[in-house]
Amino acid sequence: MHQYSDAKAVVRALAPDEPVILNRPHAAARAARFFTEKFPGTSMYAVKANPSPDLIQILWDNGVTHYDVASIGEVRLVRGLLPDATLCFMHPVKTPRAIKEAYFDHGVKTYSLDTVEELEKIVAATTDEHGNAASDLNLLVRLRVSSEHSQLSLASKFGVDLADAAPLLQATRQHCDALGVCFHVGSQAMTPFAYVQALERVRAAIAEAAVTVDIVDVGGGFPSVYPDLEPPALEDFFVMIHRHFEALPISYSAELWAEPGRALCAEYSSIIVRVEKRRDNELYINDGSYGALFDAAHVDWRFPVRALEDDLIKPLTEFAFYGPTCDDADYMKGPFMLPEDIQAGDYIEIGMLGAYGAAMKTDFNGFGAVEAAIVEDEPMASLYRGDRPDPRASDNVVSLR
Ligand SMILES: *Cc1c(COP(=O)(O)O)cnc(C)c1O
Repeated sequence: MHQYSDAKAVVRALAPDEPVILNRPHAAARAARFFTEKFPGTSMYAVKANPSPDLIQILWDNGVTHYDVASIGEVRLVRGLLPDATLCFMHPVKTPRAIKEAYFDHGVKTYSLDTVEELEKIVAATTDEHGNAASDLNLLVRLRVSSEHSQLSLASKFGVDLADAAPLLQATRQHCDALGVCFHVGSQAMTPFAYVQALERVRAAIAEAAVTVDIVDVGGGFPSVYPDLEPPALEDFFVMIHRHFEALPISYSAELWAEPGRALCAEYSSIIVRVEKRRDNELYINDGSYGALFDAAHVDWRFPVRALEDDLIKPLTEFAFYGPTCDDADYMKGPFMLPEDIQAGDYIEIGMLGAYGAAMKTDFNGFGAVEAAIVEDEPMASLYRGDRPDPRASDNVVSLR
């Protein structure tokens, strides 16, 4: 992949007709080191956020040894890239064949579940041909928790209700080497309190079940930075999680795990798009909801943007985007702040697309073509530069004192 100083250098060199994904290996490496050095437990990368082999290799090279995989496709992908990585199959609904292949062919010992049926499925699929049940399983019961503090809910699909958790924990204890509890507070959690609340529910479940718990996995949800979504510093999340983990009634040697997706890769990628037409304050650009801008269209996510022409002089104003396909729904309402005199032919960089952005591109309507390049400049926003204001001064965080 070619390397450039920044997006403007790419436009000067290529004047690209297709969108160009810009990757920043240094930003992903910095995020990986931040988690592996500062999170008070094991950080496993949630591969679904961005399964790019280059990215997975960067995370591994910077200390991420555990990977949260959700499908046999992700198991094969990561095992093929990283023979020594620890893979954890954290989708609570799997097929027997996927479990069998993961366990016997790829050495996957860790599985999540939220029903007795899934427990029975895992036990059956990991029993060998002589009828010997596996004795080395780590089984994590997924608890349903609230998503009220997060931008994207993950509360309705998976997780056992607290009222039903005790018998499932007790049954699971019979079949595993290590028993865990996991949850997901929803993506882009805007306050550490999301995890505090969830850990309170974990406490209630453990107390009622009266079982020994060896692993507490706080899942993903760690935020990145977007327009109007400025979270407190990640250190504050880590402090609160650690404090409430330590106070749980769990085994003395219990482990704390997390499954960051977004926070590890959001800063990794941006994209260069070109304005193909302007109609009032709507810009028709060459990537959209079937490309890297899925969230911009479907959940009105606002991404940072900047114009890449030096001759635009008017003040910023609000624009909406249309993507390139013929579908009316290929629309991103923004608002995206760009110079008032932007016009067809101008290039724009859209930032913070490393998570659930670059990974979502499809070929729908023939618009999937994309180039990729490496750039050396800083991402448009970062949680890892060490220059963020003290979050205790902001009003969307619980007091740490
Ligand atoms: C999607 C997902 C993650 C990653 O979530 P982020 O919000 O991107 O951190 C982690 N664990 C599970 C089980 C998931 O489904």
